[in-house]
Amino acid sequence: MARPRVQVRTASEIELIRASSLLVGRTLAAVAEHVAPGVTTLELDAVAEAFIRDHGAEPGFKGYNGFPNSLCTSVNHHVVHGIPNEVPLQSGDIVSIDCGVLMNGFYGDSAFTFEVGEVSPEVRRLLDVTRECLERAIDVAIAGNRIGDIGHACQSHAEAHGYGVVRELVGHGLGSALHEPPEVPNYGRPGNGVKIQAGMVLAIEPMINLGTKKIVQSEDGWTIATADGLPSAHFEHDVVVGEDDVEVLSTFEYIEEVLAAKAS
Ligand code: MG
Ligand code: MG
Repeated sequence: MARPRVQVRTASEIELIRASSLLVGRTLAAVAEHVAPGVTTLELDAVAEAFIRDHGAEPGFKGYNGFPNSLCTSVNHHVVHGIPNEVPLQSGDIVSIDCGVLMNGFYGDSAFTFEVGEVSPEVRRLLDVTRECLERAIDVAIAGNRIGDIGHACQSHAEAHGYGVVRELVGHGLGSALHEPPEVPNYGRPGNGVKIQAGMVLAIEPMINLGTKKIVQSEDGWTIATADGLPSAHFEHDVVVGEDDVEVLSTFEYIEEVLAAKAS
């Protein structure tokens, strides 16, 4: 079988990916309304699945390689790919909520790590820096740069704060498949790797650990956890590379509106 190639998307394909990415942002905002101590991740998953289907889309993760749910919910030392369960969230937890949708033949894929109740300053800092890693990575996802520039931007910022950058799991191309080439590692060397071209759609998703970069696979076959049991944060955006710039297709804006309303 021929190796799948890096896709350069047409303007109309980009609009379809944008619509899917925006629906993910709206779904995460619907979920954000419910994130609180005492709520289970299975309840959050039900909110997401209903919201996605009500908007004429399919959950992108449900059934993907056999994954059982619509959200990946990864609490505290769980990095990614956590399976929603009946354990109530507690104040002080963080939960990475990763969501994908499939609509009109194209995927959207975005993740946000939420604070549950009161989170320690140390953990809040981890969340802030991980978001900064995502922003810095996006800023260099421009035509003519290379994939290693994205990873370097992320890694250098995370490591400057003493955090561990997960190696085994990476961002990816996105479009008519949930995971397309190229791989987009969160570490790398400037000037290395695949050349970034206009029209490429990338899901950039730093996974940053408070302690060691080392991870372990849990017995459920899905959940990835930090080897030292310290917390991990995860934020993900879908972006399209332009001729002179990069545009973020997904959004945290709806999430931020919900969080601001809950805080007031
Ligand atoms: Mg994702
Ligand atoms: Mg992804």
